[in-house]
Amino acid sequence: MVLQVIARVPAKINLLLAVGPVRPDGFHELATVFHAVSLYDEVTGSSDDGVSVTLGGPYGTRAPDGDENLAVLAARALARRARPARPPGVRLGIHKEIPVASGLAGGSADAAGALLVCNQLWGLRLSDARLAIVAASLGSDVPFSLTGGTAVGTGRGERLRPVPVGGPLHWVLAFADGELSTPQVYRRLDELRAERSAPVPPPAVPDDVLAALAAVDAPALAGLLHNDLQEAALALRPSLSDTLRAGDELGALAGLVSGSGPTCAFLARDDAHAAALASGLAESGTCAGAVAVVGPAPLGT
Ligand code: ATP
Repeated sequence: MVLQVIARVPAKINLLLAVGPVRPDGFHELATVFHAVSLYDEVTGSSDDGVSVTLGGPYGTRAPDGDENLAVLAARALARRARPARPPGVRLGIHKEIPVASGLAGGSADAAGALLVCNQLWGLRLSDARLAIVAASLGSDVPFSLTGGTAVGTGRGERLRPVPVGGPLHWVLAFADGELSTPQVYRRLDELRAERSAPVPPPAVPDDVLAALAAVDAPALAGLLHNDLQEAALALRPSLSDTLRAGDELGALAGLVSGSGPTCAFLARDDAHAAALASGLAESGTCAGAVAVVGPAPLGT
């Protein structure tokens, strides 16, 4: 019998995030390119009677440690869906290296990690496709967090198509002090759009983004990175403009707000450039810290 299972689940950035009109169900129609990067939370699952979670690591105190934790919700959703022979329990441990509410989908990563460890711990043998259905019920980013790598996401982001990337891309993540609420950023975008009252086009991922990724052409990719949520994130957190400017002055190929922010992601030429950029940003006084990462990152075990 398996007694302990570990999953390492990566953070994501959005290389392109096109936000379409609000749908009747209240969600926005999205077209995005998810890109997993080498900043990992580690989720451990051990056999136990009930479902519980403990948190550690640099951001362990920032996430909820009770029933609202997305990893706990994921374990419970899997138990409901899979109906294993005996009532399943798990003691989850999360080592949080991914900052909370930072636009890096750390909660989604933990939910995906919990699905992976419980599937194994409870001997469920659910296929990737069935796990993805449970994942989509938990949040728009959870299905991608189950796969890692790079993928185009449509719908709410839950419909995925893997994207081939011809080699490693080097990035710097600049963390902000404090958090940004994803629903609040979307609301701000809606307000900005209402003020303009211009029609919102259907969201799409241009083919040249996919071509630049296949060719690992960082300079071409730099000109194509785009985030429709950036304006709203900057309106809510104007100091992020200073971070983006600092990255630009330090020679980043490009910089953008990651997802709903407040983390900013910068594209570098290579690993040495990324290391120099990370230390320059960390010393710039415009962010709370900066790390060099590589994408596309696979899931780890
Ligand atoms: P996204 O980009 O997917 O919206 P995010 O990176 O901006 O996500 P998360 O770190 O996923 O934000 O946190 C979003 C909310 O989820 C926070 O309010 C947090 O309290 C809650 N939450 C629940 N479980 C977790 C978890 N395991 N880790 C982080 N946040 C969690």
